Amino acid sequence: MVITRFAPSPTGRLHVGNIRTALHNWMLARKSGGNFLLRIDDTDAERSKEEYVEAIRADLAWLGLTPDGEERQSERLDKYEAAFEALKAAGRVYPAYETAQELEVKRKIQLGRGLPPIYDRGALKLTDAERAAKEAEGIAPHWRFKLDHDEPIAWEDGVRGSQKFDPAQLSDPVVRRADGSWLYMLPSAVDDVDMGVTHVLRGEDHVSNTAVQIQIFTALNAAGFAAARSAAKTHPDFAHEALLVGKEGKLSKRLGSLGCDAFRDQGLEPMAIISLLARLGTSQPVEPFLDVAPLVESFDLSTFGRAPAKFDEAELLRLNTAIVHQLPFEAVRGFVPEGFTEAAWHAIRPNLEKASEVVEWWQIVTGPIEQPEFTDEDKVYLAQAAGALSWGDDPWHALTGALKESTGRKGKALFLPLRQALTGMNHGPDMGELLPLIGEEEARSRLAKAAE
Ligand code: GLU
Repeated sequence: MVITRFAPSPTGRLHVGNIRTALHNWMLARKSGGNFLLRIDDTDAERSKEEYVEAIRADLAWLGLTPDGEERQSERLDKYEAAFEALKAAGRVYPAYETAQELEVKRKIQLGRGLPPIYDRGALKLTDAERAAKEAEGIAPHWRFKLDHDEPIAWEDGVRGSQKFDPAQLSDPVVRRADGSWLYMLPSAVDDVDMGVTHVLRGEDHVSNTAVQIQIFTALNAAGFAAARSAAKTHPDFAHEALLVGKEGKLSKRLGSLGCDAFRDQGLEPMAIISLLARLGTSQPVEPFLDVAPLVESFDLSTFGRAPAKFDEAELLRLNTAIVHQLPFEAVRGFVPEGFTEAAWHAIRPNLEKASEVVEWWQIVTGPIEQPEFTDEDKVYLAQAAGALSWGDDPWHALTGALKESTGRKGKALFLPLRQALTGMNHGPDMGELLPLIGEEEARSRLAKAAE
C-alpha cells in the first residue's frame, strides 16, 4: 500500500510551494488508494508555533487535502533517541566539538584554496585523550552521521531519473545539536521507516538530503530499524520536483509568502489552486477542474518536467473565473444573500471572476441602484420604455422588440440606456435573465426614475 507524507515545519504559514508538495503527495496516495500522512516537523521547539500547526491543518482542510493520519515529531523523541543509540553502537554517529566559528574558518580556508567546503572529519581524528580533555573543559559535543565513503549512493528518482552521489563529496551531516535537540536529517528518516512511508515526493532542494538519508536508511536497517519495511527495500522511492518560481522565471519572494490565507482573502476557489498546482510544471495541460477526481486519475510523475515550474497569479485568476462560471448553485448556497435563487445564480455567474462578487450583483438586482445622468433624448426614450414594459415570459425581449419598432433605435442606442437605467452599469449579466429577477414593479420604477 502506498503511503506518502507531507512534512511541514510549523514555523510559518504554508506557501504555494508547500501546498503544491502537499497536493502531489495527496494525489499520489489517492490515486492508488493509499494513505496520505501529515507529519508535523516540530523538533525545533523555539521556532515551531502551535498557531502554525493549526493554520496548516486549516489550510489542508480548505483545499480538501484531508490527511489519513497526523504525527508530530515532538511526540516521537524517544524513537529518535533509540535510533541514535543504535547508530552510535554501530559506530555510525560520532561526537564533534568544533564551534560554529571554527567550522566557518575551515570552510573559508577550503573555499580560498578552491576546494569544496566538505567537513574534514577533524573530530574523527581526535585521540581518546583529546576527546576527554574537551569533555573535561565542559564542551558538549554535537553529533555527526558518518557517511560510508565506500558505499556509492544511487537511486532512481521518480522525476529526475537516475541519480548518483559520491559520499566522499558530502559532509557528514550534523544530526544532533550539543543541547541534545534534533536536526531534520535523522528524525525524518526514522519516521519514514517507522511510518512505512513508501514514496517521498518533495522539492529538489532536498536532493542532497536524500543522498545522505539513503545512507541513514541503510544504517538504520543494518541496526535493526526496518520493522515496517520489507528487507528488500531499505528506503522509500524518491521523487524530487522542480522548484516553483515566479512567472519571470526567478525564485520569487512573493511566492514565499503567498498562501491559503491570501487566496481565501482574494475570494479564490480552492479548486482553482488545485487545478493550477496539480499540473503546473508537468506536460499535462493546466485546465479548470471543478472536481479533483480526474486530476487524481491522471496524476503521473513521469509527466513532471525538470525545469522550474512558473507560477502566474493571472493564470490562477483565469482558472478561478472559468471554474466560477461552472459552479453549481449548491456550491454557493452557503454564502449567497437571502432570497437569492438558482435562476439568479445562473444569470449572474457568467459575469463573475470570483464567486463572492455575486453579492454586488445581487445588490443591483434588489436595489437601490445608482443611475447615471441621461441626456434629454434618452430620458424621452426611457419614459417610453417605462410605458412599453409589459410582463410576460420574456419581458426583456418583448420590451426591446417593441422599442425597436416604435423608436427605430437599434444596437447600443437601443440597449445601453435600458441597461444603465435598470442596473446602473454599462455591462453585466444577460438582461434577458436579469430583468425577471429585478421584477416588474421595480423595473418600471427604475425606468421612470431615469426618465425624470
Ligand atoms: N520539514 C521538512 C521541510 O519542510 C520536510 C522535508 C521532507 O519532506 O522530508 O523541508
